[in-house]
Amino acid sequence: MKSIYSKLIFGFFVTIVASFSVAGIVSLKSNNEQIKETVVDDLISTRDYVSKVLSNEGIQNKDEIINLYALSSELTISYYSKDSRVFCYGSQDFCLDEQEIKKLYESSSDRTMIYSSGNILSYGEKCLINGQEYYILVQKDTSDQKNIFTNSVILILGCVFFIGSVVFLVVAEIIVRPIARLTNATKELYNGNYSVRVDTLGEDEISKLNQSFNRMAIQLAKQDETRQKFISDISHEFQTPLTSIQGFANILKEEDLSKEQREKYANIILYNSKRLSSLAKNMLQLTLLDRDEIELELTSYSLVEQLKRVISTQESIAANKDIEIVFQPPKKDITLLADEQRMEQVWTNIISNAIKYTNDGGLITITMKRTGKEVEVDIEDTGIGMSKEVISHIFERFYREDKARNIEGNGLGLAIVKSIVDLHHGKIEVESTVDVGTVFKVKMPLEENKLGFFR
Ligand code: ADP
Repeated sequence: MKSIYSKLIFGFFVTIVASFSVAGIVSLKSNNEQIKETVVDDLISTRDYVSKVLSNEGIQNKDEIINLYALSSELTISYYSKDSRVFCYGSQDFCLDEQEIKKLYESSSDRTMIYSSGNILSYGEKCLINGQEYYILVQKDTSDQKNIFTNSVILILGCVFFIGSVVFLVVAEIIVRPIARLTNATKELYNGNYSVRVDTLGEDEISKLNQSFNRMAIQLAKQDETRQKFISDISHEFQTPLTSIQGFANILKEEDLSKEQREKYANIILYNSKRLSSLAKNMLQLTLLDRDEIELELTSYSLVEQLKRVISTQESIAANKDIEIVFQPPKKDITLLADEQRMEQVWTNIISNAIKYTNDGGLITITMKRTGKEVEVDIEDTGIGMSKEVISHIFERFYREDKARNIEGNGLGLAIVKSIVDLHHGKIEVESTVDVGTVFKVKMPLEENKLGFFR
C-alpha cells in the first residue's frame, strides 16, 4: 500500500466490514430474541384456545375450527391423547408422527416445554381436558419473520455502504489531491524550479502546509538569487584586475618601452594584484565570520587607545587628501570586552571609508560617549554622502554605489563590519545626506552588561 489514498480506502473498508459485522450480529440476535418472545405468546394463547375448543362439549366440528385457526395463524397444531391418538392441523410440513409425539408426551411432566429446532419454535404442554390427559403441541415456522428482518438489515447496511463509499471517495479525493499536488511541487523545487507555488485557499492543515511550502520556495528563490549574484559578483571582481594584469604584463614584454612607461605599467600590475589580494582576504574573513562555530577572542582593553592606534595608521592617507581627523575622547577612558583584532578591523574599515568618500580638504570627527549600558562611537565625515536607497544596501556583500565605482574598493568592507558588530551583539546605524556627509554610529555593549553574552 504505497499511497495515502489506498491506505484511506483500506482503512475505510476495514472499519465498514468490522462495524457492519458487529452491528449485523447484534441486531440479528436481539431480533431473534424478540421474535421468540412474541411467537411464544402466540403459541401459549393458541394452546389455551385449543384446550377451550376441546373441552367444549357443545362444539361439533372441533377439527374444522382448530384447522382453520391453525391455517389462518400459519401454525401447526398437534395434540395427542391415549384415546384419540394424534391429530395434526394447519401446515403439515412439520407434523410429528405418532411415535415422536408419544415420546414427548411420556417424557413431559406437567410442565410446559418450549424448544426450537432451526427456525421452528415449539410449545408443548400436558393438560387435563374433561378428565382426559392431552398433550398439546403448537409449532410455528419463524423463518419468514427472520428473513424480513435480515433483508431489511442487508438493505440498510447496503445503502449505508454505498452512500458511505461514494462520500468517502469524494472526501479522500479532496484530501489526497492537494497532497499529490504538493508532492509534485516539491519534486519541481528539488529540480531547481523555485517559481513553483501551491494553492493556499482555506484554513485547514493542508492549506497551512502549502503556505509554509510557498514561504520556503520564496526563501529558496531568494537564496538562489543571492548565491548567483554572489558568484557573478566574485567573478566580476576577480576578472577586472586579472584582465588588467594580463594586459599590462603583455605590454611589459615589448622591448621598446621607456623606463617611465615600464614603471607605470608595473605599478598598475602591483595595484591590481593588491586589489586581488585584499579581495581574497576580505572574502576569507567573511567566510570565517559566517561560520556558526566562530570563536571571538575576548579581552578587556582601552577603547580610546584602540581608536588612537587606528587613527594614527590612517592619518597619512588622510593627509594625502588634506583631510583632517579630529578625535574627541571622553575624559574617562572606556574599557571594552571584545575581540580586539576584529574591532580594530571595524574602526579601520569605517574610517578608511570616511577618508575614501570625502573630498580633499574635508573633515572627519570621531566622538565617543557612554550611554547607559553601551558605548557609542560616532565617525562623521563631510564627504559625498548617501541617499536612503544607498544606505539600505551598504551592508550587502559587493554592493557599491555607482558614484563609488571609480574609488578603490570591493564592496565587502561594511559587510565585514556588520558581521563583527553583530557577533558582539552591538548595533550600527547610519545617517547621511548627499553631498553633505555621513555619520556611522557604532553602539557596543559594555563589559559589565555582557557577562555570559558570548559562547
Ligand atoms: P567599498 O569597498 O566599496 O568601500 P564598503 O562595503 O566599505 O565597500 O562600502 C559599501 C558602499 O557604501 C561604498 O561603495 C559606498 O558607496 C558606500 N559608503 C561607505 N562608506 C561611505 C561613506 N563614509 N560615505 C559615503 N558612502 C559610503
